[in-house]
Amino acid sequence: MTAKKTTTRTRQTARVKATDLTCTDCAVTACRVGTGLGNGTRFPDFCLSTSLDPSTLTEVLGRYDEQDAHRVMVAAAETEHEGYGRWPRVEETIQFARKIGAHKLGIATCVGLIQESRTLARILRDRGFEVFGVGCKVGTTAKHEVGIDAACEQTGVNMCNPILQAELLNEEGTDLNIVVGLCVGHDALFVRHSKAYATTLVAKDRVTGHNPIAALYLNGSYYRKLNDEWDRPAELTEPGDSRSAS
Ligand code: SF4
Repeated sequence: MTAKKTTTRTRQTARVKATDLTCTDCAVTACRVGTGLGNGTRFPDFCLSTSLDPSTLTEVLGRYDEQDAHRVMVAAAETEHEGYGRWPRVEETIQFARKIGAHKLGIATCVGLIQESRTLARILRDRGFEVFGVGCKVGTTAKHEVGIDAACEQTGVNMCNPILQAELLNEEGTDLNIVVGLCVGHDALFVRHSKAYATTLVAKDRVTGHNPIAALYLNGSYYRKLNDEWDRPAELTEPGDSRSAS
């Protein structure tokens, strides 16, 4: 591994570089054992917990007392605890919504998953929720009208409109929005523009049946190309590497 070690002092003062070690390089995840830094577990030298400025932790913990963050945090923890290994995510979403007192639920759905969203809406209504769904192509606007290359219209002439999805749900005053299969990037725009908290039920992955982690599980076999054919930036490509750009 070529990544360089980052000290406590540099962690607090320097911007993290792509080659710095971070939590994704951690083999012990000692932060989940016991409580606090004196839990008897050895933390790695580059640990983000041990190098953390204590005032940052204090300030962030204080934010859980702000607005409704405390209610959401407690509801999430209780949902995890009560349904651990027993509830599918649909059930977790229902129970979480109940715990935060949500009554009107928005569904921001991909139109390619409209059948699944219809099923979800029925289940939610059967549980007493009010449901308002908005499909991604709402507004039925051609992609080129917002400056998207017309070539992209070969995979569907109309643009997805996640900001409009968010705006319509905002106008409806939904208490919680559920994302069903929005595209990568469109989901980011939706979450940014949704006034209500947004939770993802379905992460779209057309290749794996909406199970994106399959590509990571299988990166040593069927999806080996994620390792072998990745288009690395030139500065990270070794001279003579067959992956070097020609
Ligand atoms: S906080 Fe420290 S112990 Fe936890 S995953 Fe990150 S590096 Fe590992």
